[in-house]
Amino acid sequence: MNKEPVKVKEVEAIQRVSGFKEVVLGYTEKEALAEASRCLQCKNPVCSSGCPVGIDIKAFIGQIINKDYEGAYSTIRQKSNFPSICGRVCPAEYQCRKACILTKKGSPFASQSAINIHFLERFIGDWGSKNSTKISANRQPLIANRKVAVVGSGPAGLCAAGELARGGLKVVIFEGLHKPGGVLRYGIPPFRLPRDILDFEIGQLRELGVEMVTNFIIGKTLSLQELFKEGFEAVFLGLGAGIPSFLGIPGENLCNIYSANEFLTRVNLMSAYKFPEFHTPVTVGKKMVVIGGGNTAMDAARVAIRLQKMNDIPGDTTIFYRRTEIEMPARRLEIEHAKEEGIKIKVLTQPLSFSGSKAGCVEKIKSLECRLGEPDSSGRRRPIPIEGSEFVNDCDAAIVAVGLGANKILTSVTPELKTDKYGDVTVDSETMETSIKGVFAGGDIVGGEGTVIEAMGMAKKAAKSIIESLSKKGK
Ligand SMILES: Cc1cc2nc3c(=O)[nH]c(=O)nc-3n(C[C@H](O)[C@H](O)[C@H](O)COP(=O)(O)OP(=O)(O)OC[C@H]3O[C@@H](n4cnc5c(N)ncnc54)[C@H](O)[C@@H]3O)c2cc1C
Repeated sequence: MNKEPVKVKEVEAIQRVSGFKEVVLGYTEKEALAEASRCLQCKNPVCSSGCPVGIDIKAFIGQIINKDYEGAYSTIRQKSNFPSICGRVCPAEYQCRKACILTKKGSPFASQSAINIHFLERFIGDWGSKNSTKISANRQPLIANRKVAVVGSGPAGLCAAGELARGGLKVVIFEGLHKPGGVLRYGIPPFRLPRDILDFEIGQLRELGVEMVTNFIIGKTLSLQELFKEGFEAVFLGLGAGIPSFLGIPGENLCNIYSANEFLTRVNLMSAYKFPEFHTPVTVGKKMVVIGGGNTAMDAARVAIRLQKMNDIPGDTTIFYRRTEIEMPARRLEIEHAKEEGIKIKVLTQPLSFSGSKAGCVEKIKSLECRLGEPDSSGRRRPIPIEGSEFVNDCDAAIVAVGLGANKILTSVTPELKTDKYGDVTVDSETMETSIKGVFAGGDIVGGEGTVIEAMGMAKKAAKSIIESLSKKGK
């Protein structure tokens, strides 16, 4: 039996940087069967302990081995609503694959030999989308016109909406932007998550009867209290962590310095790469610098290098990061892909200031070299700037990707909605109910920047509580 991990096919770097087509092509059936056959089907499996929502991984891989794809789809769907999405974006190397028995003890992330659980999940998710709508069509009879509002249409909002609709409730999603999807649409680029995958899941929700109202900000267009007056009996808040953090260094306000959120939104949501056909422009420099080491930084850099290639702009894109590659929180695959695509990574580098032209545009970035010290509260070794090590680089466009915080549009006008010191909404961890009765929350607005699967896990829990509380309430 072939015990080597089955490699997933990818588009060659030289080809893929000229556009936004998906990079990872996924397993064929033959490849999925070969990869599944490597699973030891452990008597006491530990892989599920690495999954934030506890998918029964052994069971679904066993079902793949038996070619019971419908069964595998159903197993995954019991815990995760969007396997095609999670199979593409989950940081499996820090989660299920890291827990796989085939990962070497003490590795900071999964070993190569760990089962490619995420690619198997993607295979089943895509199979489910193509072949089976049974699960999404499985809806309880409507509970006498009872309606629930969902605020925000990221993975948390979409997942909650699906659960609530299947539970028999009338659901309306209110989304501030003009298209639903949250970070799945405006943040993660299509070369990682093709939009037809996202649109399919949104279409499924519409078929379930979920109504989506876009360009509608709760806290501005309508208050939380007004939602209840409109007849909604419960509200789920999936507001996300959409507010970018900045470096707070001199020159950061110069032209052509973007937050990663703005840069990615311009390109992914507003199609800036097709300017002037689409009205939103974006600056593409010759010397583009991206600051940060997470998924957002990788996405921004990979978009930037594509824009340089697509516009025949000679130059380069460089990531500046304070620690070393091993401490980068980004998915390992994304770091590898970024490097293959020609992105340079300058580690142990801490920006000090930007300087610019008379016209106010950024031209240079001054930085300090760092060395690694003892681990900090995040468990990663702390970067310590080395005195007198300043150096200057050319930089005619910069993207700051150093973290995201709570979106406070709603919480700032709703004082009775309790938040913590970061501005995140506080909830009862069992029910996900907030300090306001009938208002529940989940995703990045609870507990800060997380992952897609974590957001969905919280949303599922909240939806269960909402259904239970409305069923108890009676009419
Ligand atoms: C660039 C980027 C790349 C990432 N890559 C990955 C990855 O590869 N894997 C992974 O697991 N995670 C990744 N993440 C993290 C992941 O996307 C988030 O954890 C997840 O999207 C959180 O989901 P959410 O539904 O809570 O919030 P969001 O996805 O942020 O959605 C919140 C939505 O609520 C809307 N909203 C906010 N306030 C209001 C209001 N008052 N009224 C109406 N609408 C409102 C917003 O417009 C937004 O659409 C990435 C994040 C970013 C930014």
